[in-house]
Amino acid sequence: AKQSGKGQFRFYDPAFYDDLRSRLRTERMLREAVESDQFVIHYQPRVDVETGRVCGLEALVRWNHPEEGLMEPLRFIHIAEETGLIHSLGRTAIEKVCAQLASWAEANQKCVPVSINVSPRQFQEGSVKRVLEASLNRHHVLPEMVEIEVTENSMMGETEDISQEMDALQTLGVKLLVDDFGTGYSSLSQLQRLDMDGLKIDRAFTSELGRSKEGEILFTAIVTMAHALGMRVVAEGVETLEQARILKRLGCDEIQGYYVSRPVPANEVPPLIERRIRL
Ligand code: C2E
Ligand code: CA
Ligand code: CA
Ligand code: CA
Repeated sequence: AKQSGKGQFRFYDPAFYDDLRSRLRTERMLREAVESDQFVIHYQPRVDVETGRVCGLEALVRWNHPEEGLMEPLRFIHIAEETGLIHSLGRTAIEKVCAQLASWAEANQKCVPVSINVSPRQFQEGSVKRVLEASLNRHHVLPEMVEIEVTENSMMGETEDISQEMDALQTLGVKLLVDDFGTGYSSLSQLQRLDMDGLKIDRAFTSELGRSKEGEILFTAIVTMAHALGMRVVAEGVETLEQARILKRLGCDEIQGYYVSRPVPANEVPPLIERRIRL
């Protein structure tokens, strides 16, 4: 039916089948990608606003498809999550980051902690700590060199298993960061109970800075609360010097975003780490 007005039966919707076909295609390609190791990790620096130095990196996965080229995660992460492929993708990411940290250390490069994104489904499975610990040991990397980013949303349906897994990671010496803070519904008591080490404030809040006073008020409140709970505050999506300066003035601890650098392949990290950002 061309039109699907009231009471009309939609027996054929080409867009729906196109979507379905492209999803199935992506899913098949993803399976192949996991088997033939088509994933690479790019790294984006985080800068300490006091010193202007790079104090951490975020590992962001890219899919390097032989025909389609380099694909960003928004095109495939949700499909990986729905199909369960996120588990092998997650293990791959952890393994690659640990191997990279080992190779930087071996080359006597300056090293900073690398944070890895872990999706809620991986936490539900309860193997994050086991997989990470095995990778760390295999590559002789200290747990302090790795941090885990958990989205605020994945803490929402927090169960006993998830908080046990988080505790186990912290006992190992791995820091935990709340990702995309401000987009979910975590409560103060929950953040306190889980003893999170830092908050990464979502880009949506950063982009408000310099445009409205409300943006600053919100940031100030979050910074005050986070510091009272002993957490560091990272602002995501910082694109301009103006935003960086406002954030420094508001007491934000670290900034991350295109203003400092886009995510880059591993070979571009060493010179990046030496840079000093003036604010
Ligand atoms: P995220 O964890 O919130 O990562 C930050 C995203 O914002 C990255 O997109 C980064 O490239 C982008 N970004 C950084 N600075 C700026 C900026 O100044 N302006 C703008 N407009 N964007 C900026 P990317 O790499 O496409 O990743 C998208 C999402 O995919 C990530 O969001 C994360 O949720 C997910 N993801 C990435 N790697 C992994 C992974 O290994 N495992 C899992 N489970 N999820 C991952
Ligand atoms: Ca993240
Ligand atoms: Ca804890
Ligand atoms: Ca984020």
